[in-house]
Amino acid sequence: MNLEQIIEEYKVESVSGRYVTLETIEPILMQWNTNQQLNIEGYSVLEKPIYSFEIGTGKTKILLWSQMHGNESTTTKALLDLLLFLHGGTEDAQKLLDHFTLLCFPMLNPDGATAYTRENANGIDLNRDAQNLSQPESQILRKAFDAFQPDYCYNLHDQRTIFGAGSTGNPATVSFLAPSYNEECSYNATRTKAVDVIVAMNATLQKLIPSQVGRFDDAFNLNCVGDTFQSLGVPTILFEAGHFPGDYQREKTRKFVFLALISGLLHIYENVIVNNEIEDYLRIPQNKVVFYDIVYKNVKINYDGIVKSTNFAIQFKEELFDNQISFTAYFSEIGSLESYFGHVAYDAKDAEYSDGEDNIPKLNAKADFCLGKNIKIVNGVPLN
Ligand SMILES: [Zn+2]
Repeated sequence: MNLEQIIEEYKVESVSGRYVTLETIEPILMQWNTNQQLNIEGYSVLEKPIYSFEIGTGKTKILLWSQMHGNESTTTKALLDLLLFLHGGTEDAQKLLDHFTLLCFPMLNPDGATAYTRENANGIDLNRDAQNLSQPESQILRKAFDAFQPDYCYNLHDQRTIFGAGSTGNPATVSFLAPSYNEECSYNATRTKAVDVIVAMNATLQKLIPSQVGRFDDAFNLNCVGDTFQSLGVPTILFEAGHFPGDYQREKTRKFVFLALISGLLHIYENVIVNNEIEDYLRIPQNKVVFYDIVYKNVKINYDGIVKSTNFAIQFKEELFDNQISFTAYFSEIGSLESYFGHVAYDAKDAEYSDGEDNIPKLNAKADFCLGKNIKIVNGVPLN
């Protein structure tokens, strides 16, 4: 199977960018629903349907859910691309369909997706509701877990741009976690099965994005869905779609997640016996908060007559406006920024900062300013 070709070839073109709502994906799911694969499993707080889509007839069952956090749409795009591939009628697709049954929830939190929030309409983080099951969305997922009795669970998310793959200066474009099932963060047979798939997916990703894969923090929290499902004996994998340089729409990352999904399936299909998978897993660098969106170095600032050279960092806030996500740049740190990186970094070469007010950058203020006499910076970026 030529995976690099497949991830280029199969893309659901009508779904792109960061703002992906139920209205975006519903027509595609309907179109694929030729034989009652699409089911309404229940309704969200605001009574939107929560769909499952079942595909394949194989013995190995995987339960996948995406957009449990409403503003995390990259894995939804990748999951749709995978479904498109599986509908493609190729021999490769048929091989997987004969081996697996996938029960997919492309959008577990449609209300959060519309509002572009992490939480559901009651303001609850569904990934902290695995024990309380206080929300309809959480109950629906748990009901599906109990009824379907999966062999694996895939918990599909996005992560912010702040994460690096260790301290290497590379962004964590994709991160994985085999969640813990106990306080000691031990490895039992269940967790090791999840680790094994992660190691295989990482090996494939390394060919395209070397040193841009991270391992998410495994602190145990039974309120998280992954920790709960792992503790109930089902190998569970957390996927985190992250930043690729310049790709704020996450269309590149979408492909890498698609690649991970399909290479993970192939690995399970091929049933290769692996040794030392935990060692290989622990060799994946841990996610570290080391990135800002933009860093300016060597900026001269005049503090009431005392001129200092300093650095500052700018972070985009994602804001829903007119059915689009805008990225607004705010000052987020001022100082040495030692051991931090910028996805984009500028050397101001001791040009003086001015903003038409008191000429001192302020945390959480919008990043519109001038450097020296000639360079105007709007929304964090120099105008040409
Ligand atoms: Zn998330």
